[in-house]
Amino acid sequence: MTGNPDEHDDDPPGIGAVRTPRQQLRGLLGRETLSFRELREWLGLSVRRLEEELRHVERSARGRGERLWVDPPRCLACDFVFRDRQARHLHAPGRCPACRSERITEPRFRLEPR
Ligand SMILES: [Zn+2]
Repeated sequence: MTGNPDEHDDDPPGIGAVRTPRQQLRGLLGRETLSFRELREWLGLSVRRLEEELRHVERSARGRGERLWVDPPRCLACDFVFRDRQARHLHAPGRCPACRSERITEPRFRLEPR
């Protein structure tokens, strides 16, 4: 997948009350800050699927004058923060590379204006 700006990634208009997970995701993140786990519970998606949807939302946000704000995961044992490269794994890492603790906070997300 590339970040082609011409990519047509809008969902079709919902039929009746049915909205796709991507539309629901945008709606939720436009209103409040939610963790990866909370989003999974709301939307009933697998880790892999939710990561795909979040990346999609992140890419398409640019064209909407929005950005996906990410509060990166953090190790509760040593305060190591999973920034930059590590933060691109949008779900919580299993283990801290600095101290090997498994007590890692969930990343949190929100859509906000640029
Ligand atoms: Zn640590």
